[in-house]
Amino acid sequence: MIDHPSAEDFRDTPYGRQLHSGFRLLRFKPELEREFRHYLDRHARTSQRLAALLLIVAVSGYLYVEHRLFNLADTGWLTTLTLLRVLQILPGIVVLVLTFYSRRFRAQANRIFPALLVLIGIIAALIDIRFEALDAELNFRYGAGLLIVASFFFLGVTFWWALLCSVLIVLADVFIASLILPAGRMPEHWIAVSYYVLLLIIGAISRYVHEYSQRDQFLMRKLLGWVAEHDALSGLANRRSHDLALRQRIAQARRDRRPLSLLLLDLDDFKAYNDTFGHPAGDALIRTFADLLAGFARRPLDQAARVGGEEFALLLYNCDNAAAQRIARQLITALAGLEIRHPQDAAARVGVSIGIATLQEGQQPEQLYHCADAALYQAKAGGKNRFAIAAGQSRSDLPVR
Ligand code: GH3
Ligand code: MG
Ligand code: MG
Repeated sequence: MIDHPSAEDFRDTPYGRQLHSGFRLLRFKPELEREFRHYLDRHARTSQRLAALLLIVAVSGYLYVEHRLFNLADTGWLTTLTLLRVLQILPGIVVLVLTFYSRRFRAQANRIFPALLVLIGIIAALIDIRFEALDAELNFRYGAGLLIVASFFFLGVTFWWALLCSVLIVLADVFIASLILPAGRMPEHWIAVSYYVLLLIIGAISRYVHEYSQRDQFLMRKLLGWVAEHDALSGLANRRSHDLALRQRIAQARRDRRPLSLLLLDLDDFKAYNDTFGHPAGDALIRTFADLLAGFARRPLDQAARVGGEEFALLLYNCDNAAAQRIARQLITALAGLEIRHPQDAAARVGVSIGIATLQEGQQPEQLYHCADAALYQAKAGGKNRFAIAAGQSRSDLPVR
């Protein structure tokens, strides 16, 4: 009897496993984490551009107001201020241009944005604290607060990077204040710092909750997509995605002038197996055979699918008829090697019949499928546990042994 623990429905997918093991620290397994970053980047693109645009408009506005309304006695400071403001705008422009033109950049946003934000944070702190030291009336002190909010909410930066970036911005502010401000002014500055810290805490908590639900949603969506394309019992592709793959591979095989073979497989005497050993044992046999078959879809464009009760399909790209026959022979031998008891004959083993068709000039997907199916019928009629080749492709009905 077969005892088979694997392929227990969708919990056996990367998405299901991650959902099951949880992600309280907001971190997936490396491969999923990369996929999640892409998902986040796609969703954050609009808000990234908006944030960059807002930065440019806001900083230009400040610069304009400062020049028109703010009479600085120290004109040398005005030049420095203008320079710093322009520097502050620069990352916004860079981000805007790059999000439009560079895919590579978008994928790196998680590293680039925090670095840019910390850079702007340092410049903003320089401006704000210089104003503070001047005892100027027009003291905006907007820098760090806005940047902390931006890092948590607008840029699609993940929680940990946003937190690191915000902490650095606050630390930079404290450090620059301690350099520029006279000692007596520091207590007053701590009030501003406490306000930044408050924003940091609120931002971090909200972003944590937000990102947690984003990750949850990402896994659920992926899982739904997986369920729609796979068969729950065997974990193989289902009929629907087999039909789709067949159409796509045929188109590609024509474009690339490559051979394409389709194997249809049907377990022999499966009804008797069910009747003798019970339905659960039948299910276990389906899973065992599915795992075996999956091992034969080795290349990225190959596909193993469960297309019916105990019927399977193996789509082999860049595989001619002779190679397909070799694989069919290996499959039959591999199944025999598992030594699964035949339901009626204790001395015999469960076998499989296979129909092989290789794509012909001008053939439609349905025609290719039909040819393989006709060959499968021949293999059954010829005595089962063997493969047969579609008519006109080679000598048909070759017994394995
Ligand atoms: P042949 O050698 O000619 O292929 O005979 P067979 O008995 O394998 O073929 P048939 O198509 O008559 O029987 C298929 C059986 O598979 C009938 C059905 O009860 C069973 N079956 C279909 N889906 C499942 C399933 O998901 N689990 C189990 N355990 N049995 C299934
Ligand atoms: Mg059968
Ligand atoms: Mg059948």
